Amino acid sequence: MNVLNDQTIVPLAGPVVDTHCHMNIAFDDSHRPPTVEQALVLARAVGVTKVIEVGCDVESSRWAADIASKFPDVWATVALHPNAAAHDTDLMASLEQIAELAKLPQVRGLGETGLDYYRTEEAQAAAQHTSFRAHIDIAKAVNKPVIIHDRDAHEDVISTLTSYGAPDTVVFHCFSGDAQMAKICAQNGWYMSFSGVVTFKNAQSLRDALQEVPDELLLVETDSPFLTPVPRRGTPNASINLAYTVRAISALRGTSEEEICELLFSNSTRVFGTL
Ligand SMILES: [Zn+2]
Repeated sequence: MNVLNDQTIVPLAGPVVDTHCHMNIAFDDSHRPPTVEQALVLARAVGVTKVIEVGCDVESSRWAADIASKFPDVWATVALHPNAAAHDTDLMASLEQIAELAKLPQVRGLGETGLDYYRTEEAQAAAQHTSFRAHIDIAKAVNKPVIIHDRDAHEDVISTLTSYGAPDTVVFHCFSGDAQMAKICAQNGWYMSFSGVVTFKNAQSLRDALQEVPDELLLVETDSPFLTPVPRRGTPNASINLAYTVRAISALRGTSEEEICELLFSNSTRVFGTL
């Protein structure tokens, strides 16, 4: 199906930024990711004028930095994903390469890093902690935000940030906490980025959390090719589908589409830069 011919895709009331995507990853074996050009044309068709390509290991971080230098609509972040850190045979060498990439002007943050306790054994958790702290150090050194991946690890992520010392700007990517955790993040001035999960039927606790997020700390993302919002569940996600999530957030917060787009855009540029 040609999504540009799909009448359900109506441009948003204003420009927005997809603050987290992976244009290099295939949804599954039967789908190839679209080219960056294709993905950006489709994204623009609904008003997604900027996307942030997020690195998960040295190779994808380098690729993210590379496409961000070629496409003005793309910014990059670089990091070792906690699951990549857990299996890295030379973690220190990889972290050094991330630290180098982090200095590049088109690289706007350190991410995704954090903790992932979903199917993680204790020995691997230690490597994740080492890597998470190293990314925090790099973020502070280059004065860029840190983008957190937190899966089944809320308490340890929060305690690492508070006890080790968070960088000035922290983003919880694909925020997955409840209303109580949203309050804690808000108290600390940490950004919360919501994905298509807010449209899922079984995600009431996330929708409750969304109500606790102060206007100035709200972000939106696809995490494409994953987490495709309703009504496109089962198909590869892409930045074009951000429109569904933005509209769901607008409805849930009782804010006009125009206002929510303005808010999300200004928050995104505050976090990731204005160029
Ligand atoms: Zn991601």
